[in-house]
Amino acid sequence: MDTKPIYLDHAATTPVAPEVIQAMLPFLEGAYGNASSLHSFGQEAKAAVEAARTRIASFMGARPEEIVFTSGGTESDNFIIKGIALSRRDRGNHLITSSIEHHAVLETCDFLRKQGVSVTLLPVDSNGLVDPDDVRKAITDKTILISIMHGNNEIGTIEPIAEIGSIAREHGVAFHTDAVQTFGHIPIDVDELKVDFLSASAHKLHGPKGVGLAYIRKGMKITPLLHGGDQEKRRRASTLNVPGIVGFGRAVELADASMHTESSRQSALRDRLIKGLLSSIGDTRLNGHPVRRLPNNANLSFAFVEGEGLLLSLDMEGIAVSTGSACTSSSLEPSHVLKAIGVPVELAHGSLRFTLGRDTTREDIDRVLQVMPGIVHRLRAMSPLVRKGAVS
Ligand SMILES: *Cc1c(COP(=O)(O)O)cnc(C)c1O
Repeated sequence: MDTKPIYLDHAATTPVAPEVIQAMLPFLEGAYGNASSLHSFGQEAKAAVEAARTRIASFMGARPEEIVFTSGGTESDNFIIKGIALSRRDRGNHLITSSIEHHAVLETCDFLRKQGVSVTLLPVDSNGLVDPDDVRKAITDKTILISIMHGNNEIGTIEPIAEIGSIAREHGVAFHTDAVQTFGHIPIDVDELKVDFLSASAHKLHGPKGVGLAYIRKGMKITPLLHGGDQEKRRRASTLNVPGIVGFGRAVELADASMHTESSRQSALRDRLIKGLLSSIGDTRLNGHPVRRLPNNANLSFAFVEGEGLLLSLDMEGIAVSTGSACTSSSLEPSHVLKAIGVPVELAHGSLRFTLGRDTTREDIDRVLQVMPGIVHRLRAMSPLVRKGAVS
């Protein structure tokens, strides 16, 4: 292929920025000390970890000691939800979350339900928004945690976190947000959002895979998941991933410098993509909120076609996208998120998620707009769904 590949799956993962690789290299080579060691090798590693912690904390309006480094978003979600369920067992056994959370939250809640915890799954409206009033009504005297994601990884909807945070505070209930999709992409301040816990992951913001953080507000008690060492103030045992944490710190620094310009640049490209697809291809709808959405997310359903067919045809053109959700793409179950916003099953099967990144250009978007109508028309011509009129 002579054209450059076009990667539009940044919600699944992002390329590691060259500056991040440069920052990590010394800690994979000479500076390989264990950050818990007292000798100079260890102290050099520890200093680098603490510099990253301070930088990341200030980026999110937190204190360095409120950050616990983890292996990523999945671990942070598991740690916070299970850790709170365990530490507050004597206060209650009720959790509130939404039906469109990432599987790291939903399956953790399912696991806890099997252990006797009761879980309220709040619905969302057709744009994917949680109604803060529903949160208020769901709170009981047994509620120990509310967990609502900041930005949805499939449809891009940004939830009213600060409003929900106010309600949680009024009722004295702890509040967690999975901010994996927003961290480094839109401004985050833990005090403005009124959250007590937050999850983030480096590889969604041009950092390395396998490193993330759990923000734990000062004074919040939580039971650790990992035992066997006194790292991270005994909140997470295990030797620190020094190169990963250093890379995370550098990725946050880069995000801090470019977030403002990137979010307006990417949202303009996103809107160009959405408008272009809706106007050039009939029987197509946008999923997620029209304006309260991640700057880089466009999720659309194309009637009378299968998302997998679209994905493979685009891949042959050198364009990488995702069907409704990366996590469900290997199963035939339609995405739980599209289901929750009321997309009919047939239409959900014809959904694609395009997620832009720092490396996405206007030429990339125009190339997608150039090839998509032909691909959809060709697949529709072969589709039995069109004649059956499965979607009206
Ligand atoms: C990617 C993602 C996760 C999982 O993060 P990992 O670091 O890959 O474990 C959790 N929540 C959301 C919303 C995500 O997009």
